[in-house]
Amino acid sequence: MRDVSKFLSGFRRFQHNYLGARHAHFDHLVQDGQHPRALVIACCDSRCDPALLTDCDPGDMFVVRNVANLVPPHTQAIEYTATSAALAFGVRNLEVEHIIILGHAQCGGIRNLVAHKPRECDEDQLIGKWLSIAEDAREKVTHELAGKDAETLAMACEKAAILISLGNLMGYPWIRSRVEAGKLQLHGWYFDMVHGELLEYEPDAGEFLALVPHQHGPGRSSQHLWTSAPG
Ligand SMILES: [Zn+2]
Repeated sequence: MRDVSKFLSGFRRFQHNYLGARHAHFDHLVQDGQHPRALVIACCDSRCDPALLTDCDPGDMFVVRNVANLVPPHTQAIEYTATSAALAFGVRNLEVEHIIILGHAQCGGIRNLVAHKPRECDEDQLIGKWLSIAEDAREKVTHELAGKDAETLAMACEKAAILISLGNLMGYPWIRSRVEAGKLQLHGWYFDMVHGELLEYEPDAGEFLALVPHQHGPGRSSQHLWTSAPG
């Protein structure tokens, strides 16, 4: 079993960087509280840490993580309280100006949904119940892309599920009113870890387009940098 010493040395670097060299920034956050500009709904996937991907500082993002970065519909907000309560706190108490749904390639949760296998044990039923939030996305892509390979279906469903969550956000009255008043913007982002790109859903184009295209580093290919086993 691998130990956790890497995490402890990492915390020592955090102490040095944020509590030492840049202590004024953290002192300000402690004394005045947090005022993040964005609420991010991200997947639990260990490769998709929003603050790490965007090189943010403490205090920049209010992050909610769950399996497959889903937002439950308002009609089921009480049933899935963990995510909806975090949404309420971020929007009403912290008054964030942006909500970003951050989906990603190789999402194990979405691939589980697309596989559509019988859920017999307790663990599978728990995961299946949660993933059912994105059932409409699965039905849409399996219908529209009938006959396509599993990878194509999974990628399409990863993106379609982001749109489901964006739609669900607008079902919360206190989110819709802020969006319509121009106080809150919603974003659908997709981290393509295979190609090292960040995409955003463009409603006018009806598709996800590169927000931050891949940059070829000297001597390093995207495959070398980003390819890893699905998880
Ligand atoms: Zn995921």
